[in-house]
Amino acid sequence: MVDIRLTNTKTRTKHSLVPIDPQNVRLYLCGPTVYDRAHLGNARPVVVIDVLVQLLRHVYGADHVTYVRNFTDVDDKINARAAETGRPIRDITDETIGWYHADMDALGAARPDHEPRATDYIPQMITMIENLIDSGHAYAVEGHVLFEVRSFADYGKLSGRSVDDMIAGARVEVAPFKRDPMDFVLWKPSSGDQPGWDSPWGYGRPGWHIECSAMSEELLGTSFDIHAGGIDLQFPHHENEIAQSCCAHPQGEFARVWLHNEMLQVEGKKMSKSLGNFFTVRDLLDKRVPGEVIRFVLLSTHYRKPMDWTAEKAQTAEDTLWEWRVLTKDVEPAAEPDPRVIEALADDLNTAGAISVLYTLKDDPAKLLASARFLGLLRPELGDWVARDLAVIDSMAISVKDGIATLTQKMTDLREKAMESKDFSTVDSLKAALTEAGVEVRMSKTGVELIAGPRLDAAKLGALL
Ligand SMILES: [Zn+2]
Repeated sequence: MVDIRLTNTKTRTKHSLVPIDPQNVRLYLCGPTVYDRAHLGNARPVVVIDVLVQLLRHVYGADHVTYVRNFTDVDDKINARAAETGRPIRDITDETIGWYHADMDALGAARPDHEPRATDYIPQMITMIENLIDSGHAYAVEGHVLFEVRSFADYGKLSGRSVDDMIAGARVEVAPFKRDPMDFVLWKPSSGDQPGWDSPWGYGRPGWHIECSAMSEELLGTSFDIHAGGIDLQFPHHENEIAQSCCAHPQGEFARVWLHNEMLQVEGKKMSKSLGNFFTVRDLLDKRVPGEVIRFVLLSTHYRKPMDWTAEKAQTAEDTLWEWRVLTKDVEPAAEPDPRVIEALADDLNTAGAISVLYTLKDDPAKLLASARFLGLLRPELGDWVARDLAVIDSMAISVKDGIATLTQKMTDLREKAMESKDFSTVDSLKAALTEAGVEVRMSKTGVELIAGPRLDAAKLGALL
């Protein structure tokens, strides 16, 4: 059995994963609030957890893993978008979920086993809030229900801060009805035009944090194995989830292992709308950056390190994937990935290490293919960007590799003749045509080398044959 070791934010140590039930390894990832396109930073945990789930399924069996990722479809940002556009909330959230699916599919991220929408779990949230009031951890006041942070001694343990430090450091909403500034909202009243549900505390809607506690309990139970999300969610969202779940179910452990991925930067700077470097996954796809290139770049930095997206990294990833796709064209994948890939991933999801193994497998295309596919790369469904370019050559019943070989011979012959005649015009014109077709021409004393680049134009190449 592969020993999977993960860095648990809760204990600040790397330790072996010991599933509560190896027949059903359970994982929860906080999902998006659905009012707009996912930006690139949102895609990072999705791709990282996709690889973790693949590893868990490999180790425990495909049917012995349950992966849940929620959709937050009740939120003031959604209400604001509805007010701005005059559109019904459900239209906005349905459309955004459709976009999200399309964008994450393009990155090769498999859909979770369950994708609960918060609005489908309102009764479970109300039951949990009632439980918290009954057990003395929450109080109702003026149509609101608040969680009483001082009633939970472990509050702040995940992020390693005391409640007093948090009050000093956080922008907390001061409301006259709060017993303590850190107390957070479980339920709040809704006015006529806001989404709302009837509850024991009047017509209203849930606060954000309670949904993940209620949905994870319903779908994974009061104790489960792994809870993941971006480091920006550690406080307050995850502290609040822990407070709610552990107080509602003191006999349960809630999540055993907490995984937090670091944030994403763009060209060395924080991504922000004000800096003009904010972009969505769709913006990149629309600029013809292939989904698997985005995936490759996201996986090339360890999830616990800040990730820097640069145009240069994307170009290198594209060149590499193109080369690997050409190498593995018409190759059947080996039965198993290289064990070093599994080893790297089992060591706290060292995806960068796993990718570095792929570079050593160029002489074994079958192994390269199986190993890359384990990371979600070189899969047929993500290969359209290359297939498009290869199609014309295919129709001539000649592979790019053979086409390049024929042209290499042609160039070699022309060069030999030119050396005798001292007239290099034919060599120069073929070289220009090859460059135009996206082929790099390298000539040295030892001979001619042609390298098909990622911008290969198959029609132009085919015309030279
Ligand atoms: Zn959450």
